Amino acid sequence: MKLFFLPLLIFTLNLIAPFLVASVVKKPNLIVIMCDDLGYADVGFNGCKDIPTPNIDSIAKNGIRCTSGYVAYAVCGPSRAGFMTARYPQRFGFERNPQYQPNDPNMGLTRDEKTIAELLKPAGYHSGIIGKWHLGAHIPASHPMKRGFDEFYGHLGGGHTYFPEKLTIKRSQDAKGESESYRTWLLKNYEPVPPRKYITDDFSDEAVSFVKRNRGLSFFLFLSYNAPHTPLEATEKYLSRFPEIKDKKRKTYAAMVSAVDDGVGRVLAEVRKCGLEESTIVAFLSDNGGPTTKNASQNTPLRGKKGDAWEGGYRVPFAIQWKGELPAGTTYEAPVSSLDLGGTIVALSGARVSEDKPLDGVNLIPFLKGDDKGNPHRAIYLRQFDRNRFAVREGMDKMVITWKGANPQLYNLKVDIGETIDLAEQRPERIEELQKLRKSWNAQLIEPTFLGLIHRPKHGKKKANRE
Ligand code: CA
Repeated sequence: MKLFFLPLLIFTLNLIAPFLVASVVKKPNLIVIMCDDLGYADVGFNGCKDIPTPNIDSIAKNGIRCTSGYVAYAVCGPSRAGFMTARYPQRFGFERNPQYQPNDPNMGLTRDEKTIAELLKPAGYHSGIIGKWHLGAHIPASHPMKRGFDEFYGHLGGGHTYFPEKLTIKRSQDAKGESESYRTWLLKNYEPVPPRKYITDDFSDEAVSFVKRNRGLSFFLFLSYNAPHTPLEATEKYLSRFPEIKDKKRKTYAAMVSAVDDGVGRVLAEVRKCGLEESTIVAFLSDNGGPTTKNASQNTPLRGKKGDAWEGGYRVPFAIQWKGELPAGTTYEAPVSSLDLGGTIVALSGARVSEDKPLDGVNLIPFLKGDDKGNPHRAIYLRQFDRNRFAVREGMDKMVITWKGANPQLYNLKVDIGETIDLAEQRPERIEELQKLRKSWNAQLIEPTFLGLIHRPKHGKKKANRE
C-alpha cells in the first residue's frame, strides 16, 4: 500500500514545494524617510558643509546617491499624492495643496486611486505612516488607516508646530483651517495623544518602535517628518550644535535637520539590530525643493525654489540603500522619481496593479544594480495647472514653459545645471520633440478636482504661507 502511494506523494510535494518556499521567503521591507521642504544642498551627500548629516549620508555611503531624483510636484500635497500612489497626481486631479477641511471627504486623495499601502496589503504587508499625512483631513474618509495603513502616528494637515506645549487643540476635527491644524494633538491611529516631546524626536521614537515591533513581518514604513518645514522651531539640544552659524533662521533650520539626522541614525541602528539590513530597502528624500527665503534652506547649484518648475523646485536630495543587493557608495545620474519607490516595492512584493491604473513609477533595482543600462524613464514631467506651467526633461535636455503663451525655454543640464543659458533659439527641433512629449503626456491628465490653499479667502500676509 505504502509503495502505491509514494509516487503520488512525491508528485504532490513537487506541486506544492514552490508555494512552501514562497511562504517562508520574506518579501523585502521598504522604509521611506521623507523630509519636508529640505533643500537639495542641505545634506552632506550633496555637499552641505555647515550642517553635518552623517546618518542621512550613511544611506548614500551604504547605497546609492541619485543626483537627479525628482518628485512629482514642487509643493507638498501633490508631491506626496504622487509618491503615495506611484502615479503622477495630475492624472487624478490632485494638483493643489488641499485645504484643511475635516468635513469634506473629497478634499484629498480620491478613493479611485490606490495607495502603496493598499496595493501592498494583499501581498501580505504591514504598513505604517509616522508624521505628516497631508492627503485629506476628513475622518474617516481620508484617514491613513482608511487608505491601507495599519498604523498611524502623526498629523493630518500640511505642517505642525514642534513644541508640545504649543499643541493646544485636542481633536483634529476641531481645527478650523490649515493654521489651526498645526496645533492639534498628534493622532495615534484615531486617538489624540497628549503631547509628549519635540515632535521630530517623538516621530523618531515611534519609527524605532515600529521597526522593533514589526521585525517579523514584511513591512512598509513611511517616516514622514514635517521637519524642516516652517515654523522654525528647535530645542537647545540641537541648536547648541551650531554655535558658528550666526544667522538665526539658518541656525534653527540646521538644528531641525540635525534632529532628523539623529532620528535617521536611530532607525538605521534598529534595522541593523533587528538583523533586517539585507531585507530592508531604505530611501531618503525631500518632498519638494527648499523654500529658501522661508526656512533658510539652500538648493545650490540648482535654480529656483519650492513651487518652481526650475530644478530647485522639484529635484531633491535622494539616496537609497539595500545591503547585499545594491552597490555601496555609488552615484546614479539618470533621472529617477519619488514615484519609483512605490514602483519598486510593488514589483518586488508581487503586488497586483489594476490594468487601467498603471503605475508611473518603475522598479529601480535593475537600473541601480547596473543590470539594465537604459533609463528608468523616457522623460520626467511637471505640470502646474494653476500657473499654466510645464517642464519636461528627457536625457540632459529640459524644456520649461513658465506660463501660458510664454516661449519654451531649453536648458542642457549636463553643462548648465543652474539653467542659465536658454538654448531654445539654437535648437528649435529639440523644442519640437519635447513639445510632442509634453502634449502627449498632458492629454492623459485631468483638471484639478478640488480647490487648494491658494484659493482660501485672503487673511492679510498669511495667505499662501502654508504650502
Ligand atoms: Ca513640502
